[in-house]
Amino acid sequence: MAYSENVYTKAKEELDRRRRKAETELSERRSELILRYPELKDLLREMARAGYEAVKVIGMGADAAEYIEKLKKRNLEIQDDIKTILKSANLPLDYLEPHYTCENCEDTGTAGGRICSCYKELLKKYATEELCASSPLKLSSFEDFSLDYYPDTPLNGDGMTVRKQMGYIFDYCKKYAEDFGRDSVSLLMYGETGLGKTHLSLAIGGEAIKKGYGVVYGSAHNLLSRLENERFGRTADKSFEAEKTLLECDLLIIDDLGTEFSTQFTVAEIYNIINTRLISGLPTIINTNLSIAKLEEKYSPRVASRIIGEYQLLRFCGRDIRQLKRNSL
Ligand SMILES: [Zn+2]
Repeated sequence: MAYSENVYTKAKEELDRRRRKAETELSERRSELILRYPELKDLLREMARAGYEAVKVIGMGADAAEYIEKLKKRNLEIQDDIKTILKSANLPLDYLEPHYTCENCEDTGTAGGRICSCYKELLKKYATEELCASSPLKLSSFEDFSLDYYPDTPLNGDGMTVRKQMGYIFDYCKKYAEDFGRDSVSLLMYGETGLGKTHLSLAIGGEAIKKGYGVVYGSAHNLLSRLENERFGRTADKSFEAEKTLLECDLLIIDDLGTEFSTQFTVAEIYNIINTRLISGLPTIINTNLSIAKLEEKYSPRVASRIIGEYQLLRFCGRDIRQLKRNSL
């Protein structure tokens, strides 16, 4: 995945921060230990000096081998002395080594000439943040979702009420978020405006991010115009690949499907996104005010049948909550 310059910069800054933290903590540990064991100071200084001595040896000719042997021997003695101190202080033997967040690359981002997985994780995290910058992702959670706004009125005449139905949907979404993984099923949340679809899908997205997954959220309109700009070379930011991100992110949340300006391009792209992600087994959450029938009308039966056949359908019901909240103020 290719990212914008900004994402790389942020990831590198975080690696720098981690490295500095490891170094600072090490010098704190060292200083405190020297207070308790003053002889440690000379040992550490001598060990550091041995490093410079070894460099000097290069110009020494015949005597070099013997000199290096001597240095090595002295170095081992110092290490033993330090170990003895650590043991008597009941401290682990790596106490005077830097403790990096990632031991594999020592917080440099590369190990053995390859990009380390910790660096990849950071890139993913900042790329997600960048794409979600316009969304209220951090503002929605399961805790601030209230079933009180849904009336206790009968739904079908089979004992089911609006509140009960929404209770089932709430529980399902909460469980879905708890168990979320790259192999989770895709969801279609459909029903009138203002029934909590965006709220619950963002709550799921928030939990997935907490688990370390790359989540991309956007309204159908925003995501599709981003794609369109990229496809037709109208985007200034060439380092960000919208299509690749939408097709490959761990969770894609498309909000308000059906409100975008519909063209041949958007209809084809919607099918491509839905189909490609289903084939890769990656979860997508789609929210729409359209009924299933209208979905079919707008995006062709091909799109609708992929969704109906493969997605878990969640039918939201009740009355516009935003309206109810406004009236109760
Ligand atoms: Zn690493």
